[in-house]
Amino acid sequence: MERGQWFNLAERSLIAEEKQQFCNLKGRKFFFADFMLQHLRGFPPSPEHSKVLARLQNIYNLYPLASVAERRAYIGETRTLLEHLRGQSGGVAEVVRQRIRQEMANHEPQGDWRDNPVQFVKGVGPKMAEQLARVEIQTIGDLLHYYPRKHLDYSQCTRIRDLKVGETATVMGYIVGTSSYTPPGKESLTIIKINVRDSSGQLTLSWFAKGGNKYLRGQYEKRFPAGAQILLSGIGKWDKYSKRMTLDRVESEVLGDLEDLESLGSTRKNLHAGRLVPVYPLSEGLNLKFLRRAIHAALSTYESKINDPFPAALRARLALMPLGEALYAFHFPENGEHLAQARRRLVFQELFMTQLGLGYKRKQRERYETGIAFARTGHLRDPFLAQLPFALTAAQQRVYEEIMRDLDRPEPMSRLVQGDVGSGKTVVAVLALLRAVENGYQGALMAPTEILAEQHYQKLFDWLYALGLRTELLIGGQGAKTRREALARLASGEAQVAVGTHALIQQGVTFHKLGLAVIDEQHRFGVKQRAELKRKGLNPEILTMTATPIPRTLALSLYGDLDVSLIDELPPGRKPIATELAKGRQREQVWQWMRQELEAGRQCYVVFPLVEESEKMDLKAATVEFEHYRTVLFPQFRVGLLHGKMKGSEKDQVMRAFVRHELDILVATTVIEVGVDVPNASVMVIEHAERFGLAQLHQLRGRVGRGADKAYCFLLADKLSELAQERLKIFTQTTNGFVIAEQDLRLRGPGEFLGTRQSGMPDLVLTNLSEDTALLELAREEALNLLNSDPALTKHLLLKQELFRFFRRHMGFLEA
Ligand code: ADP
Ligand code: MG
Repeated sequence: MERGQWFNLAERSLIAEEKQQFCNLKGRKFFFADFMLQHLRGFPPSPEHSKVLARLQNIYNLYPLASVAERRAYIGETRTLLEHLRGQSGGVAEVVRQRIRQEMANHEPQGDWRDNPVQFVKGVGPKMAEQLARVEIQTIGDLLHYYPRKHLDYSQCTRIRDLKVGETATVMGYIVGTSSYTPPGKESLTIIKINVRDSSGQLTLSWFAKGGNKYLRGQYEKRFPAGAQILLSGIGKWDKYSKRMTLDRVESEVLGDLEDLESLGSTRKNLHAGRLVPVYPLSEGLNLKFLRRAIHAALSTYESKINDPFPAALRARLALMPLGEALYAFHFPENGEHLAQARRRLVFQELFMTQLGLGYKRKQRERYETGIAFARTGHLRDPFLAQLPFALTAAQQRVYEEIMRDLDRPEPMSRLVQGDVGSGKTVVAVLALLRAVENGYQGALMAPTEILAEQHYQKLFDWLYALGLRTELLIGGQGAKTRREALARLASGEAQVAVGTHALIQQGVTFHKLGLAVIDEQHRFGVKQRAELKRKGLNPEILTMTATPIPRTLALSLYGDLDVSLIDELPPGRKPIATELAKGRQREQVWQWMRQELEAGRQCYVVFPLVEESEKMDLKAATVEFEHYRTVLFPQFRVGLLHGKMKGSEKDQVMRAFVRHELDILVATTVIEVGVDVPNASVMVIEHAERFGLAQLHQLRGRVGRGADKAYCFLLADKLSELAQERLKIFTQTTNGFVIAEQDLRLRGPGEFLGTRQSGMPDLVLTNLSEDTALLELAREEALNLLNSDPALTKHLLLKQELFRFFRRHMGFLEA
């Protein structure tokens, strides 16, 4: 039998058995379990797969004797094991995705009008459709969801005479004329002025433009024809040249002549009956009036056909507008309150679909992936806790118990532990690993860098040695003999715990019986590595940890399918790190301070930013600065340089030298390795602090203050924008990573905040994750309740179709 066929046949039998409620179905010749045993014998034997095949055989020998619940779990485990045989790197996660894709194919929508080309909207046609394609409007659905950037309130017009400095105002007038001139000696520059008049007075708008006078003037005259009516919205400003009031940051819209206004139909009514008028993002060849007319036409034709995917009961309970009305009102609202209600409905839908999607993926995963139910013995935990020189903090205790409850259950664990730098995640990880070892399994701890792995190893080795356990280190840069011996002890089960980097998941690493793996600083690893780790054992539980505080709203949107535990308390006795902003001359004081600390035997970090587009220049600057620090500022101390362009081994060498106090000052360009513990370092100096994100600054600051001594962080920055000033001020005022992350999200928005880690984030078009918090919590609760009562959404088909539509639009989200 061909390999693919073999797998298909196995899967078909599993599905049939599942459909028959795990009754050990009788086929033509065999009972299900006997068939599976028979089928397994047909798999080509190989030493690589012998363990998996043995386990499968074991399962199907036990199957006839098992209870229904056990049989269900066996089928889940079978799927996992089949994936091992198949050798797919995606593992179970890939199986789940394939299932969902298959289901989506089965639910492929038939002739949804939303997918019809936009050219069929009244008044659009093929030519305009081409223009619309430029702003990614292809279908009627796209057009309806092309949301206004904002609305202008043309109901409240201000007379030009009544404009006030600093006040937002809307003016309706007509264009008197356009003039232009070129300032002497600046041939490439043209100043264009447009005069607008209403019954109370006149104002002048001016633009500076690059280009020839005549040409530009012609362009502007075309755009602003004399005699046309025009609407202006902006902020009142005194114009010292014309000695009159004018408008700043102006948005303008030429309304054309009266005839054109008539044809606007209800939009015209909007303008004059005191409605809000939508403003859309535009591109060349698209104008506002056209867009408004097209969207209005589409809404008029299709509003009644819009199917609301939400059950009426849910809508009523949460006071949500019907979808059709919400779309209409979001474009053409009656008033501010109407607009707010429409937005609430649309934002809720974005959030609800995201949460439903995450929840659905998780339900599927729980169905196909099996975990291990570990018994609670405590025979290793108790002596471990007794030997620790400190007691767990309340937060560590709470998170530990959350993990223990996960490990009680046979379902796979989906937990992310978030804990600020220094909050003591390592101890919690060890407690989880010990639970696996107590049950006769092995445990693994994977860290993103060699230094970090080594530090974990040293700690774990000592702690666990005292319990009679053996810990092995696996990293790239270790000797062949050491590695060989470590591998042998892990394969035989002589060693119970492995600590390492990516080296842990390389080919040739086999565990005797891996039951639990902890991934430290999980955001530095990809989904794929997680899958690789899963394949190392038959099906180990995976616990992920991160020191990067992510605001709850963002965490729920990104990792909503994970349970998140927070270690939101630092061990007692930590002294807050004093943080100061220093400019100009104050640098001297910072260096003076560094000298004092260095003389007292402490160490310092000096960090420079590295921005990608100017990496080379920055690198040069950092090297020059390094020389400056080494030869001019601190000649009597040992100064080392660490930057991203160095090879991994060189980096490790420098870092190790700093750890061993063979260097006093470490000048670094990139982010210093996460999580590294140098308790003797007491000063962190950050140059050009304004160029770092707050979360990044927080990580950097977390490198000091890890010992008994008081620690300091100095932010050096000149020429700060107002926003930068505000950000840095927040940073000097709190050391709470979550407060900082919330503020960073508020100031920079999710895109900037996440930076390159953005993958998998669904684009929430309307949602503001800093402000729509309450709505997010509500959407999550509702989505999860609905899934608990109807996990496969068979009773909510419309919603299921909508969910698949959402997946189709956000494939990245499904794949993450
Ligand atoms: P992180 O969460 O950043 O990984 P670590 O696990 O490295 O933090 O812990 C930081 C330091 O705090 C370590 O030296 C650790 O031994 C210590 N520590 C952890 N928990 C406690 C506690 N409950 N009381 C006192 N010190 C603790
Ligand atoms: Mg850590």
